[in-house]
Amino acid sequence: MKKHNFNAGPSILPQSTIENTAKAILDLNGSGLSLMEISHRTKDFQAVIDEAVALFKELLNIPEGYSVLFLGGGASLEFCMVPFNFLEKKAAYLNTGVWAKKAMKEAKGFGEVVEVASSADANYTFIPKDYTIPADADYFHITTNNTIYGTEIRKDIDSTIPLIADMSSDIFSRPIDVSKYALIYGGAQKNLAPAGVTFVIVKDEALGKVSRYIPTMLDYRTHIKEGSMFNTPPVVPIYAAMETLRWIKAEGGVKEMERRALEKADLLYGEIDRNKLFVGTANKEDRSLMNICFVMKDEYKDLEAEFQKFATERGMIGIKGHRSVGGFRASCYNALPKESVEALVACMQEFEKLH
Ligand code: PMP
Repeated sequence: MKKHNFNAGPSILPQSTIENTAKAILDLNGSGLSLMEISHRTKDFQAVIDEAVALFKELLNIPEGYSVLFLGGGASLEFCMVPFNFLEKKAAYLNTGVWAKKAMKEAKGFGEVVEVASSADANYTFIPKDYTIPADADYFHITTNNTIYGTEIRKDIDSTIPLIADMSSDIFSRPIDVSKYALIYGGAQKNLAPAGVTFVIVKDEALGKVSRYIPTMLDYRTHIKEGSMFNTPPVVPIYAAMETLRWIKAEGGVKEMERRALEKADLLYGEIDRNKLFVGTANKEDRSLMNICFVMKDEYKDLEAEFQKFATERGMIGIKGHRSVGGFRASCYNALPKESVEALVACMQEFEKLH
């Protein structure tokens, strides 16, 4: 039976990424050696990281003066590296979920943290909009896609102070105006690569403004200077990222990724809104294109476990909602084909007929 991979992360990757990375693991460029057993300083690997950086810049139209880095530690380490490198006195955060809150917690160790707005009281079902960014803060931090709650900030907001964004779960799903950001970061394990590498896009001139000592490994300038090779980088995930970026380019770039994401999301949200059994959990205007969250309507709540079983038997993988939301979450990342969304919709319709 065909499996439809709706996992939230690590999650579905393009087949070409998996196949070509597997080939490079067996034999890199016909060298007779595995990608895993050569030095990261060889010409062969330098070409990989150079191409990955170049494709990042090309696909996201990154302006001059920005660096692209591949680091270890996950997005979670960025929660601490960001304040280490940017927070002198005060930082502003938009609290849109657990990940935003974790980022905020780290920043509190470095200075004053202002929560400009929060949707915590509504279990993060919407993106707060009425807030003022304090003009005297060192930066404003947002989480563009809230993986757990299925809400997303789908436009590049204006900020008079340096804007920093966690784009772990929606990078490469739409064109972005990088010039509006001082720094963008994310774990790779959604739209890019297997877990193990973190991407960072940073405006060079935004750095060097804090007075504290920054440990070498946590200083973005170290990694800019050394081309992400101050220490041994995660070579296999970087190789896979390069393959995914090649795939995005060949498929038509981020504009095409956005078109497909809209098409898939319209299909699934359309069914959620039509079907008598289900209801979406996020505010309609803030709905994520990447993580689509829904529950059973109150009067059908006792059917939840049954639908989970019904869908699993039909090949749906990873649709169980996060424990803090419950119900279901269908993650529709770039590599998920439209056919998988159609299969889930068919499954929901079939289940509706039974009840
Ligand atoms: N931010 C967001 C929006 C996430 O979805 C996640 C992981 N699911 C993280 C941060 C944490 O990423 P990591 O596991 O790479 O530290």
